[in-house]
Amino acid sequence: MTDLLAATTMSTATDAAPAPGPAPTVDHIATPLTDARAQLAEAIGLLGYENGLHQMLATPRRELTVAVPLRLDSGESRLYIGHRVQHNFSRGPAKGGLRYAPNVNLDEVRALAMWMTWKCALLDVPYGGAKGGLAIDPREHSMAELERVTRRYTSEILPIIGPERDIPAPDIGTDEQTMAWIMDTYSVNSGYTVPGIVTGKPIALGGSQGRASATSRGVTHIALAALRHVGLDPARSTAAVQGFGKVGADAARFLSAAGVRVTAVSDQYGAILNTGGLDVEALSEHVRATGSVVGFPGGDALDGADLLTQDVDLLVPAAVEGVLHDGNAGDVLARVIVEGANGPTTPAADRILRERGILVVPDILANAGGVIVSYFEWVQANQAYWWRADEVESRLEERMLSAWQHVLGYAEARDLSLRTAATALAVERVAEAHRLRGLYP
Ligand code: GLU
Repeated sequence: MTDLLAATTMSTATDAAPAPGPAPTVDHIATPLTDARAQLAEAIGLLGYENGLHQMLATPRRELTVAVPLRLDSGESRLYIGHRVQHNFSRGPAKGGLRYAPNVNLDEVRALAMWMTWKCALLDVPYGGAKGGLAIDPREHSMAELERVTRRYTSEILPIIGPERDIPAPDIGTDEQTMAWIMDTYSVNSGYTVPGIVTGKPIALGGSQGRASATSRGVTHIALAALRHVGLDPARSTAAVQGFGKVGADAARFLSAAGVRVTAVSDQYGAILNTGGLDVEALSEHVRATGSVVGFPGGDALDGADLLTQDVDLLVPAAVEGVLHDGNAGDVLARVIVEGANGPTTPAADRILRERGILVVPDILANAGGVIVSYFEWVQANQAYWWRADEVESRLEERMLSAWQHVLGYAEARDLSLRTAATALAVERVAEAHRLRGLYP
């Protein structure tokens, strides 16, 4: 109980300041936060920035932990712990998703918030980075319970969010309905409707055309470019996709529509394989009907862990952090990895994959399609003027491919991995904004 009683704190997180130094080398103690900080340390080393700036960029500007009581349909009540971490505001309001998962914790949310800062800077959308999380398993709750817990979490973080302060969006375990409840709770408390408070809303409430599939479309644009870059013809390539949720399912569909043979797909319950190519539309139908890829008649059962080491050209990890580590990176057979998830590859795995000549396109580039269209949604809400789907999609493609070219050029000119190049480019932009604004007071 003491943990819970101590949980409601608001701080500027100075206690979280890291001791800048070499990246941790013992992979089995890696967490998303140690990974994110190791990536930052590498970029800072390259850019030659001083220690004070390094500490500032390694530490969230603001973090809020809240206790969120929920009245269950049965009449009993439960308490859940939630967080909202705002990593940086140098380039604009903080921006990032809200995750509902049982294992959500503050360090994970800190890492995800930091990655949002780099993602927004790299794609040149005028935001800083944030992330929210609630340690809850949404599958255990009714819609009515999810609505109540979302509204209460929103009320608890109300003082620090806003269309000019911090704009939540969907992430694992949340969706457009969650965003609608957040928008309504914020609007009722404001006394007027505020569509710009969240992105990833239903289109009927001011959501953008193309937002729901934006991350997957972006992943696909990058995957096709990366395959061509290593000399592979997408129409003769094969792919394995880990995760069949908001990112993986549509990525598998778009890749397949582009001619890539998707041979293996997994979700949290298991995996399926068809070396001749899975019928992704039929698989989506099966998942809609049963809730899982498991049991799909158009493929053979495969152990979930084996998905990552399939003999394919392209691997798309589109689930959670830390799935490619020093224990399995040596067994990866793919030629190209495109990170649909945030943080799927640990720094130790990155080193192994680079030595083995496997091209890794990092999360902050590969999965940025979501936040790009979130930005378009916020712009549209601010102007109360709606774009057509084809306008959204062509602007998304243009931004993704120009960022790809930029990162590739920077990496090749300096013989860096794409991750180090992308992080350094992003960190440089944030540091430049910080330098121009100056240090107050
Ligand atoms: N949760 C998504 C991400 O990790 C989207 C964030 C947003 O659109 O704000 O990029």
